[in-house]
Amino acid sequence: GRPGCECNACFAGPDCSLRTPNCTADADSGNPLFLEPYWRRHAAAGAVVFSGWHRMSYVIPDGRFQSVELERQIRSLHRAVGNAAVDDKHLVFAAGSIQLVNALVHALSPDNNAASPPARVVAEAPYYPAYKVQTVMFDGREYRWGGTTARWANASRANSTDGGGFIEFVTSPNNPDAVLREPALAGSPAAAAIFDRAYYWPHFTHIPAPADEDVMMFTMSKPSGHAGSRFGWALIRDDAVAARALEYVSNSIMGASRDTQLRMLGIVKAMLAKLHGEDDIFAFGHDVMRTRWRRLNAVVSRSRRISVQKMAPEYCTYFHRIREPSPAYAWVKCEREEDEDCYEALLKAKIITRTGVGNEVSSRYTRISLLKSDDDFDVLMERITDLVNAENYEE
Ligand code: PMP
Repeated sequence: GRPGCECNACFAGPDCSLRTPNCTADADSGNPLFLEPYWRRHAAAGAVVFSGWHRMSYVIPDGRFQSVELERQIRSLHRAVGNAAVDDKHLVFAAGSIQLVNALVHALSPDNNAASPPARVVAEAPYYPAYKVQTVMFDGREYRWGGTTARWANASRANSTDGGGFIEFVTSPNNPDAVLREPALAGSPAAAAIFDRAYYWPHFTHIPAPADEDVMMFTMSKPSGHAGSRFGWALIRDDAVAARALEYVSNSIMGASRDTQLRMLGIVKAMLAKLHGEDDIFAFGHDVMRTRWRRLNAVVSRSRRISVQKMAPEYCTYFHRIREPSPAYAWVKCEREEDEDCYEALLKAKIITRTGVGNEVSSRYTRISLLKSDDDFDVLMERITDLVNAENYEE
């Protein structure tokens, strides 16, 4: 049971342990509840309690919004994990990394006084839909949505001078298909890249080397699982770009919540204290995620109706060994002619997924989240097993 839980439609009761018969499995959102058991085990270490009079001020005494101590701990976490080079980068905090989408696009766009045309914001399909959603909301003088990279990959078009250059979102590992990506418009002098490193942690991927791009975004939602705290940060090499991103967050929300920063400090310290020791959060997270991936593949490999992305074991510098794949999402393809809308086909089998149409690819693809609670995953496996077993009866 999960006392104090927030039950979804498949479960009821005070600890969400009562199953609702025949419910529809919800594998839509990337809610990272797979880490809840970890924090239940380390409830005291991760707890942050503070009095009513604490943290009332907008700012810390030196007039800034960002906790110097939290910056220090985040740098320590990156160094200990080996997933990002932090020594020559500024840190900019935000309300989730979702806020950094616009903050970083703004920071990289031609500035207010320049007469240059707007930048085109692009991403390679399948991409995380929030880049487009956020960008079109503020389409205008500084930047506008430019569609998928395939439109511009032709070098002569990418180098054309009629636009204000490109800002490419490079999600690595990618959401939805877990590929470690490189920029599609690399080599074009007028292209800047924003590397979204939300999943670049040992739960979800091998870590070949510390990421060292000029502009990177991270979030606490995926490594610790505290999505509801809404905390993200950017690592930015250039002083002026960092200043513009910070200015955006200052103007938008007067800096990341100080309550959240305090909670994150407790969480990061608790993670750091266990790294490479007993109950290392990444060892735990990897174990959960690779077990889920293995269970899913065992069933899907029997199917001729659906398939998922192929992934191979890879050497990881964090674990110092070859590790099994453990993606955050399964990227499902419906193989049958009549299953042109894969989302609908799975919905008929009582599985809610996220259609690939939102990632700007064909409706033959849809995304299954593997990040939710153990109970959610069990219901999902039941529905997928039923779907695959039904194929054999049909033949
Ligand atoms: N980037 C990617 C690739 C994501 O998948 C997500 C969350 N699903 C985010 C950014 C945003 O995360 P948050 O706002 O919770 O930090």
